[in-house]
Amino acid sequence: HLSTRLEKVAEWVLPGGTVADIGSDHAYLPVYLVGNHLCEYAIAGELNEGPLQSARAKIRENHLQDRVEARLGNGLQVLENRTADTVVIAGMGGPLIAEILEDGKAFLDDVHRLVLQPNIASDHVRLWLRQNDWHLMKETVIAEDGRLYEVLAAERGAEDPYMEDEPLEKQLWIGPLLMRTKPAAFIQKWKKEYDQLERIRRQLEQARVPEASERQEELLQKQNWIKEVLS
Ligand code: SAM
Repeated sequence: HLSTRLEKVAEWVLPGGTVADIGSDHAYLPVYLVGNHLCEYAIAGELNEGPLQSARAKIRENHLQDRVEARLGNGLQVLENRTADTVVIAGMGGPLIAEILEDGKAFLDDVHRLVLQPNIASDHVRLWLRQNDWHLMKETVIAEDGRLYEVLAAERGAEDPYMEDEPLEKQLWIGPLLMRTKPAAFIQKWKKEYDQLERIRRQLEQARVPEASERQEELLQKQNWIKEVLS
């Protein structure tokens, strides 16, 4: 059985066909997808030998050696001489996910969908998608064990979700679709974020250093964006 977070990721993978899970660690996701006949074939990509061995053990345990393949490699390089309908990159920071996409652009030609789950700084992922003509089609926030995780799905053909009357930076930060759908866990996430910014701003106020005022302005701007979204 999968975590709530990976269950949402699995739900957004294109049914049938091949999935590549980059940074698969224990290969929980590929084993679940293929084991439950949600996908025909899966590649579990891993940069590190330890997690690769965990993936191989999990695949053997589930007798899926003929339909799930663990490959050692950096990012999307595991797609060399392979294709996948969906690429998943989950459980890493947004900047690392964006870097893996950027470095592996050449391997995305035949990929139809990206399902991405940045643990932090999802704006880096949204920016990369936007600059590379991958359009966000779904976004949500998942609550699990007191933590809040964003899950994003993108396709090349999907409609561009960015609004002309909202600042781009705000939309990249908060999510153009989430700003409209506002699921319960999203509200929770941004209330928490607001309180955190408030604490930082108070600390800066007390510090009275010259650079503080510019930073305070930035924080106020962000807090206003959150207020607008939560109102
Ligand atoms: N995707 C799983 C999940 O969401 O639960 C595992 C996430 S785990 C925190 C991150 C994994 O990504 C680690 O096993 C790490 O070895 C792997 N990783 C980090 N950088 C990578 C890269 N450039 N290419 C492939 N795997 C990478």
